[in-house]
Amino acid sequence: MFENLSGKLDKAFKTLKGQGSITEINVATTVKEIRRALIDADVNYKVAKEVTDKIKEEALGRDVLISVSPGQLLVKIVNEELTQMMGGKKVDMTLQGDPAVVLISGLQGSGKTTFSGKLARMLKSQGRQVLLTACDIYRPAAIDQLKVLGEQIGVEVYAEPENKNAVEIANNAIKHAKSTGKKIVIVDTAGRLAVDEQMMQEIEGLKKALNPSETLFVVDSMTGQDAVNTAKTFNERLDFDGVVLTKLDGDTRGGAALSIRTVVDKPIKFISTGEKMEAIDVFHPDRMANRILGMGDVVSLVEKAQQTFDEEEAKKLNKKIRQNKFDFDDFLSQLEQIKKMGNLKDLMGMIPGMGKALKGLDIDDDSFKPIEAIIRSMTKDERANPEIINGSRRKRIADGSGTSIQEVNNLMKQFADMRKMMKMMNKVGGKRAMQSLAQ
Ligand code: GDP
Repeated sequence: MFENLSGKLDKAFKTLKGQGSITEINVATTVKEIRRALIDADVNYKVAKEVTDKIKEEALGRDVLISVSPGQLLVKIVNEELTQMMGGKKVDMTLQGDPAVVLISGLQGSGKTTFSGKLARMLKSQGRQVLLTACDIYRPAAIDQLKVLGEQIGVEVYAEPENKNAVEIANNAIKHAKSTGKKIVIVDTAGRLAVDEQMMQEIEGLKKALNPSETLFVVDSMTGQDAVNTAKTFNERLDFDGVVLTKLDGDTRGGAALSIRTVVDKPIKFISTGEKMEAIDVFHPDRMANRILGMGDVVSLVEKAQQTFDEEEAKKLNKKIRQNKFDFDDFLSQLEQIKKMGNLKDLMGMIPGMGKALKGLDIDDDSFKPIEAIIRSMTKDERANPEIINGSRRKRIADGSGTSIQEVNNLMKQFADMRKMMKMMNKVGGKRAMQSLAQ
């Protein structure tokens, strides 16, 4: 996410390296570089100019503390300005009414249906009763797609494949929700490949008829300035409440994320970073600014882990670790959990300093494949008692998994190191526990 922009900003800050203080001259050079980086990221020129003028003004107006270098101070100022540019504070959805209606709008292919599923899953995990409604009256495939997603996440999908009246379908869905105790109805609508009058009239009609408490506009961030223009057009007609930026996993520039708020004056409420149902985040401008500047986003990482990890599983695992019984089956299920959390590269980028280190590297779920193949080629006995895996077993496992003995050996060594570490942690933890008992 935003790799190009992060790299260029980093370069801009370097122009201040070795400078003892901020002056008109050195700040001018850096700010020019920052502006260029923003324009290269497909940020609207006017927005880029406004922001960089402000950065310059702030930089010259602030006293540099002795402990802070001009470079550090500028990073801080740019962080604040990027945060402001993206709206400053997180804005929540409004869910009012019984049921509360959430209307999803956007062009075809922007990711509406996928997002509807993700939002339903997120709300369900917060303990809410949700009904998904398929209102794409043109593409029967879209109804099937939503049904498949609904099944996957365990949320009911309301559809009337023969009915060509979207308002009627949605109203029936609301009635159905009332009679089945569902508190939130998410209405997925039809899109077109480009803005067209009929689509606009239809979505306007739906909004008038349903009076949703939240209307979201979904847009593909990879389309850069086009995304911003489409948002503007939709907003003029629909006056939506919030933006959902999708496909941020493939967006190395970030122009849409940075410009939408200033141009459209509507908050970004969610971001989507992959095709999996778990790849959704509530949008926090400050955390995003941190990520862009390579400062990581540990808070989101922890929240994501909490959302994905099963507490019961975690307790069981903890017990196994304490008894030093962590085995290859546990290892495998941990890999599965991590994969469920979403795009690996984005996840790693949330660790401070990691984003830069990972630049250009290709990390995806496939990176785990050889490890999984090796573990899956082990017998049940071998997984539970790794000590029995001798030379001939290693050869069999390598042959079975299509890997080399070297790779099997590496994994065995990593696993042994991991266990050693766990043992050590247990000991330290145990000592502490004893000490606290003695107090
Ligand atoms: P709709 O026509 O607006 O309903 O769009 P879909 O939900 O069908 O999405 C279009 C395509 O984009 C599908 O192949 C999705 O899997 C894919 N997609 C949706 N969101 C994301 C995302 O955040 N990242 C990536 N990489 N793909 C996405």
